[in-house]
Parts: sequence; C-alpha cells; structure tokens
Amino acid sequence: MVKEQIKNNKKHFICEECKFAYKEEEWAKKCEEWCKKHHSCNIEITKHAIIN
Ligand SMILES: [Zn+2]
Repeated sequence: MVKEQIKNNKKHFICEECKFAYKEEEWAKKCEEWCKKHHSCNIEITKHAIIN
C-alpha cells in the first residue's frame, strides 16, 4: 500500500517497498507495483521521486 505523508505542509506518497517519495500518487503506485514484481527499482519511475 502506498503511504501518505505530510512533510512541510505538502502531501507525499511513499512507496512502501523502496521508501521513495512522490508528489503524485500515480507514480508511487507505479513504483510499488514495479518494486513488488521485480524487487528492483525502475529508473524511469524513480526519476519522478522527490530527492530529500
Ligand atoms: Zn518503489
């Protein structure tokens, strides 16, 4: 399940598998689907992640 997190008054969506954070829920879901299936990260997806 994608997790919602509020940080600096902004809502982020966390992939529970790899813990990357996304601004759009869509990307977090895509990431999680990929992570569960392949047990690795897809750079085409993780490039949309928020870098902390
Ligand atoms: Zn992920």
